[in-house]
Amino acid sequence: MTSPETLQVLNRVFGYDSFREGQQEIIDHVAGGGDALVLMPTGGGKSLCYQIPSLVREGVGVVISPLIALMQDQVDALRALGVRAGFLNSTQDPGERRMVEAEFLAGELDLLYLAPERLKVDATVALLDKGSVALFAIDEAHCVSQWGHDFRPDYLALSSLHERWPEVPRIALTATATKATHAEITQRLKLEEAHHFVASFDRPNIQYRIAPKNEPRKQLLDLVRNEHAGEAGIVYCLSRKSVEDIAEFLVRNGIDAVPYHAGLDAGTRAEHQARFLREDGLIVVATIAFGMGIDKPDVRFVAHLDLPKSVEGYYQETGRAGRDGLPSTAWLAYGLQDVVQQRKLIDNSEGDVAHRRKQSAHLDAMLALCEAVECRRVQLLGYFGQSATPCGNCDTCLAPPESWDGTVAAQKLLSTVVRLRRERRQKFGAGQIIDILLGKKTSKVTQHSHDELSVFGIGTELSEPEWRGVVRQLLAKGLLAVEGDYGTLVTTGESDEVLYRGRKVLLRTEPKRAAKQAKPRRA
Ligand code: ADP
Ligand code: ZN
Repeated sequence: MTSPETLQVLNRVFGYDSFREGQQEIIDHVAGGGDALVLMPTGGGKSLCYQIPSLVREGVGVVISPLIALMQDQVDALRALGVRAGFLNSTQDPGERRMVEAEFLAGELDLLYLAPERLKVDATVALLDKGSVALFAIDEAHCVSQWGHDFRPDYLALSSLHERWPEVPRIALTATATKATHAEITQRLKLEEAHHFVASFDRPNIQYRIAPKNEPRKQLLDLVRNEHAGEAGIVYCLSRKSVEDIAEFLVRNGIDAVPYHAGLDAGTRAEHQARFLREDGLIVVATIAFGMGIDKPDVRFVAHLDLPKSVEGYYQETGRAGRDGLPSTAWLAYGLQDVVQQRKLIDNSEGDVAHRRKQSAHLDAMLALCEAVECRRVQLLGYFGQSATPCGNCDTCLAPPESWDGTVAAQKLLSTVVRLRRERRQKFGAGQIIDILLGKKTSKVTQHSHDELSVFGIGTELSEPEWRGVVRQLLAKGLLAVEGDYGTLVTTGESDEVLYRGRKVLLRTEPKRAAKQAKPRRA
């Protein structure tokens, strides 16, 4: 396959002048019959990498995608360009399916989108056997990875594509690129012989910022009003309840916002998504159910009010900002309560030990990113195995965090935890421990006569928010742990190194403004 032909298709069908970085090589390789694994960030332009080869090759390009809800839109968009596209998934009635199948067999399609579970149906396999397949594109290929954050069991069956149709080229694409996921995709989809195209994962126009969560609603309002007034954005929350609450809060404050989560009926969800795509300055407050495959170029900010469960998830969600290349913000507020909550979720989760260990590792990596003192971008790209130099466009580059010797503070806090356990056989959450350190005679303190402990009031040199920062950072460093439904604090195997063996603890200074504004909150 020659380049001029693919370039012509790019111009004529898609109306673009030139290829983006990486596209030409990938398209030529696949159009020429080679297998490929493509790791490219969200918005990098992965779709053309299989669409153009499907157009220039003999037969129909079969695209396997988990995004069933978007297939109709994708197909409509292609048809508007004059590309003959169709899809097969569980939302169709048998009549509609039969029509698409007939088009496929008659060679009247360029592209056929297929939900992965369709391949488990013998009739679909027989259909593909009877027709002529130009290539298999496996979109969102990280869904095959059990290590990743978005595993779909149906994807495991895709390993058989190669055995069943060895002569048909395959191209697998994903925006998730940790070494572990990359290796798992390669192995499960049998892409050892394929050409691996790895694009840079840097998104230079996105400014990454991670702030301590003090008054999240006020912080969010400031972000929207001061930096993104009238602009489109996505606000991610963990629970449906907080999605509803935050959307309502924004509307009450005169900001155009709608909720989106799996608990809303399909009609409302579709309407809110359509408004987001169509309108200029709408904010969608959503659970992570929102956003996959949504291509809105001018999303100016993505805000997280709860800690994402993994760096992969964080990267994908923030990647929805600024696809048009213009300056955009990725803002995350994170606090002690997030760590407590996520540990609880992991402890109570259904999976086996290995599954919990995996989730723990994901959380630890996310915490490390939050507490990093160096450039966020360097950290983030490092996580994906790519190197970078400090970017000058993230919070730590713009205002390098100061650090302080927190060894004594850590010792005071850890010994309070140890004393409660040894002398009273008790465990408490961060709120009570900090009250003891600050020497506060609350009713809960006198009730347990914690004012009689020798550690009572030994920590008055720090404020409550500063102590919360100490707890958070010790948790992130694995020097302290939370357990149980009440988020009680316990020491870890490493705590003794700080208490008895002279290990130094360097802590990041809490931003002053934030520390002053903070209202006391209980863990
Ligand atoms: P991804 O799947 O990697 O997230 P898409 O394939 O959805 O990215 O492409 C993102 C956006 O970039 C789309 O709006 C697409 O039309 C546009 N795009 C892709 N390739 C080019 C190109 N060569 N020139 C201009 N725009 C492009
Ligand atoms: Zn930076």
